[in-house]
Amino acid sequence: MANLTEKLLALAGKGYGGYKSLSGAYQFAAYILVFDHIQVDPFAPATTLHLVLPLKKTGLPKQLLATKNRRIAVADFLQRAVAQAIIKSDVPQRGTGHSSEIRIDHCGQEILERTAIIFTKETLEVRLTVGLPANGRRINAKAAAKILLEILPQIVQKSLMYDQLDQRKLQAQVELFEMQQELRQQMQAQGLVAFVANGAVLPRDSGDSDLPLKTGVPFVSPASLAVTFKLSGGKQVTGMGIGQGITLIVGGGYHGKSTLLQALDRGVYNHIQGDGRELVLTDQTAMKIRAEDGRSVANVNITPFINHIPGRRNTAEFSTLNASGSTSQAANVIEALESGAKTLLLDEDTSATNFMIRDTRMQRLVSDDREPITPFVAKVQALAKQVGVSTILVTGGSGAYFEVADRVIMMNEYQPGDVTKRAHEIAALEGPTSLTAAETDFGQLEARIPKKSNFRVVTRKDRFKARSRTEISFGHSNLNLSAVEQLVEPSQTRGITALLAVLKRDYFDEQTTVAEMLHSLYDKIDQQGLDQVLGDKRHAGDLAVPRPQELGAALNRYRGLRMIQRK
Ligand code: ADP
Ligand code: MG
Repeated sequence: MANLTEKLLALAGKGYGGYKSLSGAYQFAAYILVFDHIQVDPFAPATTLHLVLPLKKTGLPKQLLATKNRRIAVADFLQRAVAQAIIKSDVPQRGTGHSSEIRIDHCGQEILERTAIIFTKETLEVRLTVGLPANGRRINAKAAAKILLEILPQIVQKSLMYDQLDQRKLQAQVELFEMQQELRQQMQAQGLVAFVANGAVLPRDSGDSDLPLKTGVPFVSPASLAVTFKLSGGKQVTGMGIGQGITLIVGGGYHGKSTLLQALDRGVYNHIQGDGRELVLTDQTAMKIRAEDGRSVANVNITPFINHIPGRRNTAEFSTLNASGSTSQAANVIEALESGAKTLLLDEDTSATNFMIRDTRMQRLVSDDREPITPFVAKVQALAKQVGVSTILVTGGSGAYFEVADRVIMMNEYQPGDVTKRAHEIAALEGPTSLTAAETDFGQLEARIPKKSNFRVVTRKDRFKARSRTEISFGHSNLNLSAVEQLVEPSQTRGITALLAVLKRDYFDEQTTVAEMLHSLYDKIDQQGLDQVLGDKRHAGDLAVPRPQELGAALNRYRGLRMIQRK
């Protein structure tokens, strides 16, 4: 400790590069501080460092850290506590560039597995960035000393010591997380793909906010779809259960259809207390599918939906740098199946109409042999029965799905009703439609294998960089993820960039299929944690573990992607 004080004193007024001499580790009363990367000037990305605390000193009860679920919930809680303590801390006046900025990675409404706080058997490691203070290009040693010797120890005291924490709130977060996980298990055992608890508040405060709408009308399940779960702690939860198969959400415009579907697409994650969607839970493999014209596609067999397109293009191995609405949506479905999705979520608002339906008038005008598209409505049953993949679909403008739906939920002034019987009666009035052979069979699903040459490194600029939540770059190539709607945080996008590098490093052997590599990689992450899998010596604290579905989605959006189909 004396060591750091002396070093800082010696740096007073020197050129900014002098900070490099701080490199190393320093013993404090409650922790060891280690500098990972020291910035070269005040405008460069801030200095990264980590603090290692013996768990004993934190006083965190052992039972709170006994399982992986609990550790995820506790780490999330502590990360938010550190963020709060930073906001309340008495940071010296901002100087040049990033001077005096103290940061921990930001958490949104979801509880995710992240790298900002890591537990080992005996320690807690917290990873921060600090903008080392400057006046112009000169070191401001006084401010640096204040941050490193006073403020950081205070932040640790306030946010990582059990006796300073809101213990009831911490306990509640751990219990909520465990309850969410237990509910997910029970849902699976009962064959439910989604659950919305009574009392849940689904709408968000505004189009650009993820916070609950305070005046939101709480959700109440229709009696016919209500299920009650009995949980191990003696608690009971009742709400709407959505079973496997085909579920339709219908209703008038502005009655809350898309809001319900959005809550379901976020239901793959666990939310924090007070979010309103704590007990809105969806099959964790569920994938939102939408049209995405302009995206690139590499060697995807889209023949289940599209055949014989003009120019003799081969749709059994469809590749393009500029997909149309329907071909992009078809590719999105097939790729979702490849990355393990067992439930698909679709909203007419973001779908290509000709991919979804084809009515009799249009069939008369454009004969079947001139229409390359077999619409989703003709395949959705084969998808459920043959492939074992359920669909939840919002539609307000077309009754075409009535007869194939296992259940029809009507939203009326934000409240769901069960109109399955009525919808089936209406469909029956028109008599049964018979499916052709091409429709009762979903069609072939081909395995794809990435070529070794993907993400070729030629210059030093050829590396992965997460530019924002929705954009990754590799050299001159951009991976645009703005249509990957279940990507909720930039930390996940950074996690994706790190894992793409691992895929390239460990799995692109021209033998392993995309499905196999995702399986194997996530088994490893599950057992060893993201940190270990990355082999990260820089202690990156700004990553979250993405789902395999989003990692696959990112890979598929690389415009230089080269794939081989396994025959
Ligand atoms: P639809 O898809 O049926 O046209 P939306 O889901 O887009 O309708 O919802 C329309 C509006 O109603 C949105 O502004 C949304 O935030 C709001 N809304 C949805 N559900 C609720 C609710 N339960 N309580 C209050 N407002 C809601
Ligand atoms: Mg809508």
